[in-house]
Parts: sequence; structure tokens; C-alpha cells
Amino acid sequence: MMEAIQELAGAIKKAKYAVVLTGAGASTESGLPDFRSKEGLWKNVDPMKLTSMSALRRDPVSFYQFYRHRLGRLWGAKPNPVHLAIAAMQRAGYVKKLITQNIDGLHQAAGSPEVIEVHGSLRDCVCLECGRRFGSQLIDIDVEGPEDLPRCPECHGLLKPGVVLFEEALPRDALQAAIDAANEADLFIVVGSSLEVGPINQVPALAVAHGADLAIINMEPTYLDRRARWLIRGKAGAVLAECTQHLGLELEVPHQ
Ligand code: NAD
Repeated sequence: MMEAIQELAGAIKKAKYAVVLTGAGASTESGLPDFRSKEGLWKNVDPMKLTSMSALRRDPVSFYQFYRHRLGRLWGAKPNPVHLAIAAMQRAGYVKKLITQNIDGLHQAAGSPEVIEVHGSLRDCVCLECGRRFGSQLIDIDVEGPEDLPRCPECHGLLKPGVVLFEEALPRDALQAAIDAANEADLFIVVGSSLEVGPINQVPALAVAHGADLAIINMEPTYLDRRARWLIRGKAGAVLAECTQHLGLELEVPHQ
């Protein structure tokens, strides 16, 4: 594994346009569970059933009870070496674009200068009726019955977390930015994603089709493993910390 990490660091150094795509596995070392691994959030539940647009409309009370649980975990979370290493590589100019499927804001907290958030974020919420956006404190409430549901301060419509739910389209600008990055990439690095959620799981394949070398740092297999030039099955924090060391970069925790 050490050899692969060293080689990957060399490739990052040489690349003209390195792009990183992160998934929930980038944040497990911050104590946030992912969806699909053995300790995942939804081992016993079907994510499609709980966090889809139809679930929100059909049973908003259960939907919000689940979201409260997620938000509660999130507020205390701090960036880990995965976020810090990627931020350091961006600031040093080694990583040109960072695409994330995560909604936790930890890349920004680690000091990443630019993040393409393809699944939205839990920082805000949006009214299903008038489309106005508000800070997520409006949805960070105890919902025991329909009378507690978070409502738009302007039109009283139901509020939805600012994340992309199943059955919803991805934000057009973010998806386009991810596709543009993949087209441009000569090195594409997947970090902590099962690559099971579409359409974003097609983005690394697009980069490969355009000639990029692919690296996958993930604890479990993905459908693209056979296309990867570097397949690193280890904890992403240790792998990326090692990579940054080879690049002569320090992991700096930004002052809050
Ligand atoms: P996923 O749960 O489907 O896959 C995560 C992958 O990361 C797994 O294959 C697992 O083996 C791997 N992994 C876990 N910890 C790791 C570590 N320390 N090092 C290396 N690999 C590790 O997640 P996904 O592919 O991102 O897709 C799920 C969807 O869930 C995304 O849309 C995302 O928005 C959402 N999600 C986000 C968060 C978050 O924001 N932190 C948390 C859970 C789910």
C-alpha cells in the first residue's frame, strides 16, 4: 500500500489538472456515519424510503425526526485529516477541483477554497411552496406531531433541508461544474464513496473516458475498481496524510 501511496503522490505532483471526488467515507473519521458500509447509518433502513421527496410529502413528521437525528450529530463534527489534506493540496495548487457528495460542510470547515457540492448542504433549507431559502436553524427543531413541522416564515409552506433528496434533480450548476472538471481532469481521485449513487457515480467514468488516470481510495469495492490505476483499500485519513507528507505539505487546522 505504501508504494501505491507514494506513486499516487508522484502522480498528484505531476498532474496538470487533478480532481477529487469525495463521499460519505471522507467524513466517517469525523464520527459521521456513512450510508452503506457495515457501521453505516442505514444498515437497517432503506434510504430511499426515508429521505425521498415522496417520504417528505407523505410523512413529514417521520422525515423530520430522522433529520433531527442527523443534524444533531453534525453540529459537533470537526474536519479530519481527509478534509485537511485535500484543503492543503487545493491551496498548494495540486488539486484543481473538489467535488463532494457530502452535505456536512466539513471541506469548507477544513479551509477548502472551493467546493462543488453536488448534493446540496445542510447549512440551509428551502420552502417547498415559494422556493425561498433560510438558514438550517429553522429545521433544527423537535418534531413530535404535524403542528411542530418547520414552516416558511414568509408563506407557511413546508420547509425542506437544503440537500438533494432521492427523486430530486441535482443542482444544475454544480452538476455541470462536476462534468466540466471530469472532462478537464488528467488525474481523478475518488475518496470514500461507494459510487452507488447516480448520476454523480458516472463522473469518474467520464474522466477516465477522457483519458484521466483514476485513483480510488475506499475501504470497500466499487464498480470502477477495474479501471483504477491506483486502488488503495485503506482509511482515507491515513492515506491522504501520507500523500501530503510526500508532497511536503502540512495539515493545518484552520482557526474557527
Ligand atoms: P456511501 O455510504 O454509499 O459509501 C461510503 C464509502 O466510503 C463506503 O464504500 C465505505 O467503505 C467507504 N469508507 C467509509 N469510511 C472510510 C474511510 N475512513 N476511508 C476510506 N473509505 C471509507 O457514501 P456515498 O458514496 O457518499 O453515497 C451516499 C450518499 O450519502 C451521498 O449522496 C451523500 O450525500 C450522502 N451522505 C453524506 C454524508 C455526509 O455528508 N457526511 C453522510 C452519509 C451520507
